[in-house]
Amino acid sequence: MKEKNLSCEFDAQVWTKEWMRIIKENPSIPLDEATMLGWFANAIMAGYDHAKNDGRIVELQSIIAQQSETIKALKEDGERLSNNGEGYFTDGDCDFCGSPETHRPDCPITLHTDLMKKIEREG
Ligand SMILES: [Zn+2]
Repeated sequence: MKEKNLSCEFDAQVWTKEWMRIIKENPSIPLDEATMLGWFANAIMAGYDHAKNDGRIVELQSIIAQQSETIKALKEDGERLSNNGEGYFTDGDCDFCGSPETHRPDCPITLHTDLMKKIEREG
């Protein structure tokens, strides 16, 4: 039977079950000091790696949550700007870029609409 990859495993029960399976196939292993050393070293490091990475995962989840809130606010802002863009025209000219009816490429409404399209594409 193929060995299970335990490199990211931190559950002692999983390590024990795999150990029992290996011993049944190779009964002499518990008497081999090098194998025992390797087994415990790997189990300890798997726990260490998990603890170390878990903090990083929580940090990354926090960053993602903050960025999701920012993207949500940008989407709402973009919707408002694109839906009410006509409201920014005074006497036929855009209040921001001064262009009649359509916005210039450097108009804040055009830039924001482009940003919104980029955010939508990138999810
Ligand atoms: Zn404009």
